[in-house]
Amino acid sequence: MTDKNIQKTRRKFIKKFGAAGVLSLIGLPIVYKMSKRNNIHSHVVIIGAGFGGATCAKYLRKLDQGIKVTLIDTNPIYLSCPFSNTVLAGIHELNDLTFSYDALQDKYDINFIHDTITTIDHDKNNVRLSDGTTLNYDRLVVSPGVAFTWNSPEGYDEVASQIMPHAWKAGAQTRLLKDQLNAMEDGGVVAIAPPPKPFRCPPGPYERAGMIASYLKTHKPKSKILILDSNEKFSKQALFMQGWEARYPGMIEWIPVTEGGSVQRVDTKNMTLFTDLDEHKVDVANVIPAQTAGKIVLENDLTNASGWCPINQKTFESSLIRNVHILGDAALAGSMPKSASAANSQAKICALAITALLQGDEATNPSFHNTCYSLVDADYGISVSAIYELKEKKIQKVKGSGGVSPLEVSDNFRADEAKYAQGWFDSITMDTFG
Ligand SMILES: Cc1cc2nc3c(=O)[nH]c(=O)nc-3n(C[C@H](O)[C@H](O)[C@H](O)COP(=O)(O)OP(=O)(O)OC[C@H]3O[C@@H](n4cnc5c(N)ncnc54)[C@H](O)[C@@H]3O)c2cc1C
Repeated sequence: MTDKNIQKTRRKFIKKFGAAGVLSLIGLPIVYKMSKRNNIHSHVVIIGAGFGGATCAKYLRKLDQGIKVTLIDTNPIYLSCPFSNTVLAGIHELNDLTFSYDALQDKYDINFIHDTITTIDHDKNNVRLSDGTTLNYDRLVVSPGVAFTWNSPEGYDEVASQIMPHAWKAGAQTRLLKDQLNAMEDGGVVAIAPPPKPFRCPPGPYERAGMIASYLKTHKPKSKILILDSNEKFSKQALFMQGWEARYPGMIEWIPVTEGGSVQRVDTKNMTLFTDLDEHKVDVANVIPAQTAGKIVLENDLTNASGWCPINQKTFESSLIRNVHILGDAALAGSMPKSASAANSQAKICALAITALLQGDEATNPSFHNTCYSLVDADYGISVSAIYELKEKKIQKVKGSGGVSPLEVSDNFRADEAKYAQGWFDSITMDTFG
């Protein structure tokens, strides 16, 4: 394609989607021809209407009106994990983090089905709903998020999670953890036990420590937070630690795996966590179990020995089964983290690739982005961002792109980053569900 043609395609694209659409597609190589067809030529079924699946559904319809899109989720509404830690600090209510699928249905003519997919028949190209009915697809997209590995740590199962909540899927678990914090006496000990990597949202447990501390500082200032970590280091570590020291001196203690932090076993009756070296009796225990890709891909031959889904990182098509694309937390997507930001960015590339493949074309070379804000306190934000590209068939961070917030900055800078965090949340949820 000549430069002149690219310019022409860009102008057409802007005319069709508007500047906002172009901005929200940042990272997409905007050179793909737009389909003018109104006749339905293909059916794409999407399992999972979270940040990955819902974004993919919307952008497939934006890119090609000839694709019928059916989006299926176990839940009738979406509760966002991003910002769910802020509920613990009393900054937001769960209601603020709840999104409906109405706009996707009304504005983009996406067929939303509230149900659970139980099986994928790869030979017949269909999926089975819980009532036994089947749906045929030309291409299937699966963005099911994560599943928990129960009994890792030992004794931590679904029943235990009602006493020691993980709160790693937003909703009832978040509420339970908040209720336990509210009920705790001043002077109590709250444990947070992050699992070994890889897991959903690498900075999440440490943001959570700050959000819980923000609540305790005002309501129960004699209390302590103990992070019993199965890892040796963590995302934005220097920034988090600086923030904890500035806002909650002496309140948060972090014990890494190398100092015996890894929780091996839990005893819910005695509210005790056992690590390699010690036992810790605590008042509130937030145990985050080890994770794999969601159950539907685990049980339908789409994962490898790692418990995650290997994919062609250009098209997100499974390396194991043809015509099935996997994205978001479940996918082995090179060096991208398991985040909503990554899932949203991958979903657009996946939509673009499917549009091309359905027209018998080759997918274009993608680039991606990830931005992750974390709050240390209501008016104290920090961030990390990066651009990613496909290199030697793997998604890799572009050297020198993005970076973390600087360490030596003013209070105003941190307060601005907290405002940008809210801006990020508003725009990604609008881009996904709006
Ligand atoms: C506490 C916390 C804080 C976080 N904060 C951030 C943040 O600040 N920034 C950020 O970028 N990311 C953050 N994340 C990570 C983010 O939530 C995930 O990375 C993101 O949701 C992944 O999107 P996904 O589409 O892969 O999965 P999800 O968004 O989890 O969507 C999966 C959907 O699939 C559905 N589903 C699964 N199986 C089936 C089935 N068989 N049939 C029908 N439906 C099914 C589920 O109901 C769910 O709605 C946070 C996570 C946590 C836990």
